[in-house]
Amino acid sequence: MPMMQPQSRSRLWWRIIPIGIALAVVAYQFLGAPQFINPETGRTARLGLSEQQESALGMQGFREVTAQARLLTSGPAYDQVRRVSGRLAAAMSDTVNFDWQVAVVDDPAQNAFCLPGGKICVYTGILPITKTDDGLAVVLGHEMAHATCHHGAERVLHQNMTQTAMLGVQGSFADLDYQQQRTIMGLLGAGAQYGVLLPFSRSHESEADLVGLKYMARAGYDPREAVGFWRRMAEASGGSKQPEFMSTHPLHETRIRQIEEWLPEVMKERPAGGQVER
Ligand SMILES: [Zn+2]
Repeated sequence: MPMMQPQSRSRLWWRIIPIGIALAVVAYQFLGAPQFINPETGRTARLGLSEQQESALGMQGFREVTAQARLLTSGPAYDQVRRVSGRLAAAMSDTVNFDWQVAVVDDPAQNAFCLPGGKICVYTGILPITKTDDGLAVVLGHEMAHATCHHGAERVLHQNMTQTAMLGVQGSFADLDYQQQRTIMGLLGAGAQYGVLLPFSRSHESEADLVGLKYMARAGYDPREAVGFWRRMAEASGGSKQPEFMSTHPLHETRIRQIEEWLPEVMKERPAGGQVER
């Protein structure tokens, strides 16, 4: 039986030790991260940022966006965005303690987002697709839910953990030549992207859809409007179809199917009688 050369045995250790250390650090990063139990879904998330860090980052981003944008401060579009976001915010659990702020940007981009800590930006280009208060509530409910579910902070933790693991692998292959190292890191990077980070961001999308529908329903909007809105959004995006596994946003059909499945449950969240004063 051939004996293992002492040299190759020690080389094996040099491969294993950096990965072992990295995994220990990853475990430490994960276990040491603050937990957030989502009151809407019951899911426990671990976060890479504190609430203070989140709101500081959100505020910074909000200032950067609004500094360069043409902002509306009055008029029907501005009033609509304020009205709908205000009603959604009032329909949330008491555990949400955001200082909500709204910017309406006069810009044809079909875009809207909510930064961590509750800083909302709506581009007027999306309003022809949202059409009504209910349609706008679909978008704002979804975007505000990303913030209240702390998806940004959870993503920071995932990225930190991925980075640590990659450093460990890099350390263990430090003896290989540059081209080989690049190949290994490239493969691993793609693996992390498609195997870990993208599936997580798709699960964030679907959580934001569900939580947004609940906010809508409780605020007295009609969650069934979500189906029409996402259909219009699909048309507006010109039916551009990336394979689903490569995209952060689920395919429109998948999203619509899932929303239709949730609707019976979500409709129960509507106030008694189903009608709310507008
Ligand atoms: Zn989203």
